[in-house]
Amino acid sequence: MRIDVLTIFPDYLAPLELSLAGKARDRGLIDIRVHDLRDWTRDRHRTVDDTPYGGGAGMVMKPEPWGEAFDTLLDDGDVEGATVVFTTPSGQPFTQAVARELASKGRLIFACGRYEGIDQRVIDEVSTRAEVREISLGDYVLNGGEVAALAITEAVVRLVPGFMGNAASLVEESHTLSDSGASLLEYPVYTKPASWRDREVPPVLLSGDHAAIATWRHDQAVRRTAERRPDLVHGSVLLDDVQVRPAE
Ligand code: SAM
Repeated sequence: MRIDVLTIFPDYLAPLELSLAGKARDRGLIDIRVHDLRDWTRDRHRTVDDTPYGGGAGMVMKPEPWGEAFDTLLDDGDVEGATVVFTTPSGQPFTQAVARELASKGRLIFACGRYEGIDQRVIDEVSTRAEVREISLGDYVLNGGEVAALAITEAVVRLVPGFMGNAASLVEESHTLSDSGASLLEYPVYTKPASWRDREVPPVLLSGDHAAIATWRHDQAVRRTAERRPDLVHGSVLLDDVQVRPAE
């Protein structure tokens, strides 16, 4: 997979070198390129913003540098399957399901906004040339799209086939669909020692009885999801003999 990031703060993306994405890059699974949007400006001050038409506070990102940046990136011969992700608080909320969709793409291009956002015509014009997704990290406002691009990249890259040493560890994770069709939070996890500060590991996990362990874990996942995130329980799921139903 190839990932391009367009930003006016390339240094903000430095953690991509260190983290999971860095490992994937080292293994040749992904090719990440971070670009400074100001490289596509033409004035002495490398200006990327201007006052908003219609008035109001703040500045808006000018269309010209974005347009030229996309001309370069979309015309570089590696465009097949490119999906452009505009990070924006007014976009589709980012979820594990969206991460799975993006992980199936051959190429992602992130556009990180700043100020009051990017001139709408950029998004409209790029939509005529590539698949565009407007994605929000959550219902809050960040100063810029870089943190969103980092978070989305990390969630996506760990789903790229071959990235996880043990692909089984993805199967039972939170926000992953279970056999029952529910997207459950993960059950609590424990490691050695079996007793720590008078707190014991649940005996079933020491029993060696794999079926009993699987049942216990499923019950814990259902219980935790019903308590913490009833909105995730679509339809009822079975907990021992009890049906857990989503909140009204
Ligand atoms: N005026 C915009 C609004 O009210 O929707 C917010 C602009 S914000 C200060 C600047 C940039 O940060 C946005 O263009 C976007 O790229 C990024 N950003 C802020 N919050 C975000 C979020 N929740 N998810 C994704 N990107 C976000």
